[in-house]
Amino acid sequence: AKEGYRSQLLYDPSVERGVPNRLALLGDLRRALDTDDQITLHYQPKIDLRTGDLAGAEALIRWQHPDLGRMAPDTFIPMAESTTLIHALTTRVLETAVRDATRWAAAGWPVPVAVNLSTRCLLDPALPGRILGLIERAGLPVSLLQLEVTESMVMADPIRAQLTLRELHEAGFHLAIDDFGTGHSSMAYLQKLPVDELKIDRSFIREMAAEQASCVLVRTAVTLGHNLGLSVVAEGVETEDDVATLRNLGCDIAQGYHFARPMPADEFRDWQTAWTAE
Ligand code: C2E
Ligand code: CA
Ligand code: CA
Ligand code: CA
Repeated sequence: AKEGYRSQLLYDPSVERGVPNRLALLGDLRRALDTDDQITLHYQPKIDLRTGDLAGAEALIRWQHPDLGRMAPDTFIPMAESTTLIHALTTRVLETAVRDATRWAAAGWPVPVAVNLSTRCLLDPALPGRILGLIERAGLPVSLLQLEVTESMVMADPIRAQLTLRELHEAGFHLAIDDFGTGHSSMAYLQKLPVDELKIDRSFIREMAAEQASCVLVRTAVTLGHNLGLSVVAEGVETEDDVATLRNLGCDIAQGYHFARPMPADEFRDWQTAWTAE
């Protein structure tokens, strides 16, 4: 076992594939944050299942590495989160999302934009003040910026997280529990969190059509959310069948490739014009 552990430490498969190691990538990411073109946001629409109207958009970070091309957030976000670089990254995301949302609102198109937070940021006592300062300087109504946190982020330090969430909630921000169903929080605990929205993880939606058991899970999540007075969102909605099932289950909002993939800000504006015309 000891040998195995040693070789695991010594063997870094990324070196063999010619992929830069973690430290090099972190350096690249730090430099990328100083550029305008490498780090951008894409927006994915959220659709009201009852009316078919646009209910908002989720902002998703994109990194175009100069040599390696498009990097998946699932790889570089956890990397950034293991260092303080996550703060600069989150600030960049918040500033960009606030700027876009303010521009849209000023053009008579008030779209609530949701930003993903990370554990380190959620546990940072200075976060609520910083976000408030940002939207006040921009003149963006607080109702147009939403924040998404996962159960596991909250569970990393439930007391600290609850304080921050309460402060954000009292300031008027709309808060969502992301990836719901993948964590371990009890209903009693969930009830204590000052959140407005529950986003059912896409793994449950993916299996919903195929497996009856997952349909039961989605149904349970919808009921739980509604019992707690929350708006329920399904993520990863890919087919018309998913939409029909979710409507039957009373799910409020859907997001997924069936409606649109995440897209650059300007494309999102055009997409909305076409969507409304349909
Ligand atoms: P998430 O917050 O759960 O975001 C939803 C992910 O599902 C996005 O992946 C989105 O592109 C993808 N998705 C949306 N609809 C569908 C669908 O119908 N089918 C499938 N298969 N996927 C769908 P993305 O953009 O690669 O982001 C992955 C994760 O990275 C996010 O998961 C979030 O945890 C994290 N992330 C993304 N942007 C940010 C950010 O700005 N800050 C932080 N802290 N995390 C971010
Ligand atoms: Ca999210
Ligand atoms: Ca999610
Ligand atoms: Ca996720």
